[in-house]
Amino acid sequence: MRKHIARLLAVLAALAALIAAPGLPAAFAAPGTAAAPAPAAAAVWNPPTNLVQPLNEVWNHVESTYPNLYGFRNYGWDQIMANRGSVNYCVRWESDAPVSAALRDRIHTALKKQFGKWMSAMLDNGTGHNAWPYTNVPVNIVGWAVKNRSTLQWTDSSVDIYAGNLDGGGAPQCSPDCGRFFHQDGNYSRCPGGAARHYDQSLWLTKGLSGGFGGDWGQRVGQEYFVNTLDQENIHIFLHEVGHTFGLDDFYDWSPTGQCCFLMKAGSAAQITEFDKWMFRDFWRHLKSRYGL
Ligand SMILES: [Zn+2]
Repeated sequence: MRKHIARLLAVLAALAALIAAPGLPAAFAAPGTAAAPAPAAAAVWNPPTNLVQPLNEVWNHVESTYPNLYGFRNYGWDQIMANRGSVNYCVRWESDAPVSAALRDRIHTALKKQFGKWMSAMLDNGTGHNAWPYTNVPVNIVGWAVKNRSTLQWTDSSVDIYAGNLDGGGAPQCSPDCGRFFHQDGNYSRCPGGAARHYDQSLWLTKGLSGGFGGDWGQRVGQEYFVNTLDQENIHIFLHEVGHTFGLDDFYDWSPTGQCCFLMKAGSAAQITEFDKWMFRDFWRHLKSRYGL
């Protein structure tokens, strides 16, 4: 309640400033500047005309079906904002297939490329859309989790290795002390490597899994699927699951007007489409005010 009163006072003060200096954009004018600034391009919302209605339908659906849409604070967006423009991963290797250093590095390369496709969807000519602040979001892998250390065939120390740390279902995990999912307050004081070695998301690769799962904790797809598609332009099941990490919904039982085929409608597209891109941007548009943007 106190915050509301403070905000009302701020609005009144701003109005008073406008009344005192008619014609001057009070919030923007610097001392000694006569020219009015250009409208803030960052706030532009300009989807293609034919996408306006289906985007509104999607957002109305999200608003009416997500139990805590505006209260939830661990979307992929929140994680990147907390890190000031990067994301850290743990790879959960739920498989006994050996991993060479070369395969480890190929997995990182693919992860960067695929995650980067969603990040690129926020850019217009190299500028962040709708006040999105980050034109380049580094994707770091800080740890690998495995049941037996011998499955990982490298000896260098480029990533932290968690061997034999299993979750309740017996799947290897990086230390929960280092995981954002478990420490959404950003306190990683119990993580051996501290905040620098924390992970926001898991790339959870499970032997024999078909399909996938995605959420604020990361993405889970088949180990064989991911390895076999490393060199593909689009690892589309993974891309779909990253969409969930950033809050996007599934479309199992309905389609927005005029939209038959897009990544988040599972099985109907194998890449991020124009419609996916604008749904992604719309999520940020509705979330950004929590960051004063
Ligand atoms: Zn899905």
